[in-house]
Amino acid sequence: MLTLDFHPTGRHFLQIPGPSPVPDRILRAMSLPTIDHRGPEFGALGLRVLGGIARMFQTRHPVAIYPASGTGAWEAALVNVLSPGDAVLMFETGHFASLWNRMATRLGLNTEVLAYKGKDDKLPNAPGWRRGVQADMIEERLKADTQHAIKAVCVVHNETSTGVTSDIRAVRLAIDAAKHPALLLVDSISGLACADYRHDEWGVDVTIGGSQKGLMLPPGISFNALSPRAIEASKTAKLPKAFWAWDEIVEMNKGGYWPYTPNTNLLYGLAEACDMLLAPEHGGLAAVFARHERWGEGVRAAVTAWGLEIQCADPSVYSPVLTGVMMPEGVDADAVRKIVYERFDCSLGTGLGKVKGRMFRIGHLGDCNDLTLMAALAGCEMGLKLAGVKLAGSGVQAAMDFFASHPARVPMPKAA
Ligand code: PLP
Repeated sequence: MLTLDFHPTGRHFLQIPGPSPVPDRILRAMSLPTIDHRGPEFGALGLRVLGGIARMFQTRHPVAIYPASGTGAWEAALVNVLSPGDAVLMFETGHFASLWNRMATRLGLNTEVLAYKGKDDKLPNAPGWRRGVQADMIEERLKADTQHAIKAVCVVHNETSTGVTSDIRAVRLAIDAAKHPALLLVDSISGLACADYRHDEWGVDVTIGGSQKGLMLPPGISFNALSPRAIEASKTAKLPKAFWAWDEIVEMNKGGYWPYTPNTNLLYGLAEACDMLLAPEHGGLAAVFARHERWGEGVRAAVTAWGLEIQCADPSVYSPVLTGVMMPEGVDADAVRKIVYERFDCSLGTGLGKVKGRMFRIGHLGDCNDLTLMAALAGCEMGLKLAGVKLAGSGVQAAMDFFASHPARVPMPKAA
């Protein structure tokens, strides 16, 4: 029996960029008895969560909910709109963009991966892993594709491995400027319900989301937000699809049901999460985005005061969800993480793929607040010092100064 509900040291600090801590209110909602997924109560729940999740994506079109992790929803997006051998344009912004490319290749798609062309002394093996999608490169490539062989452009909105949030509106404008019919597929698994995201307004055809990040749910459900063009494409696309096929799901969703047994208790949690995040008295989605931006700024103030480098090298695309902290030459980021975990009961995100050992990631998403972040930063600062990293100054002090002088947009209820 795991005894994770009690730590002699108090609550564990789950400071990775997802799964993020699940609030008690959501845990309580998920503890309700599992009901008949064909019964009348379920239909009402289904319609409620479908309405709520559409608002999260800022779409009026259908959203497919899968009982799967984000990887499943990646696959769903590709197999629903593409055919074997189709050319797909991707952009390498980090580990997750690379994994999505690997999946597309395994599915028999013909991928072409663009990457940032500049040099980076700090990360010579992965210069593009410090920047966002370069929309002008996409425009140029699509303009050269006069035969319109490229069927889809796939990009990651919030690259969880690096802490970069790409400008999706700019990608849409690039596709339009090239007058190219390619579909736009966007992974916003870690951006959803943290960073501003507008599926309809930005003309995205499929957006992929996940439960375990801004929605503050455990892992286990994921999403495809659709556009009318994507639904049209799915009618003729030839990659094999059965479980992932949108047609039956969208049809049955009209009554609040699914063609298979859905993840009932996670849907209870999703209904609760939507109520919490969309509540007008808490400022709705605008306040959700604003508080993530503010947390990101506070954490970056700390990293800068330490004299360490933020992995994202372009301030216009700093992630409001997580911050990648690069280590000085010769310091193993995982050794720092180990100290912070063992000494201070705080989990930080590891460096993934090409940046393993070079950086760690601080998640600032979902159910956190100024003081939990301050504690996590204190854990980092102590861990860095114990690991022998020379710090220029106190990040904790810098973050305190930032949070104290920048009140949250939606204030706490006033004391009596
Ligand atoms: N894409 C991004 C941006 C992610 O952050 C993740 C997971 O962290 C995935 C894809 C893969 O999702 P999952 O691990 O839920 O399958």
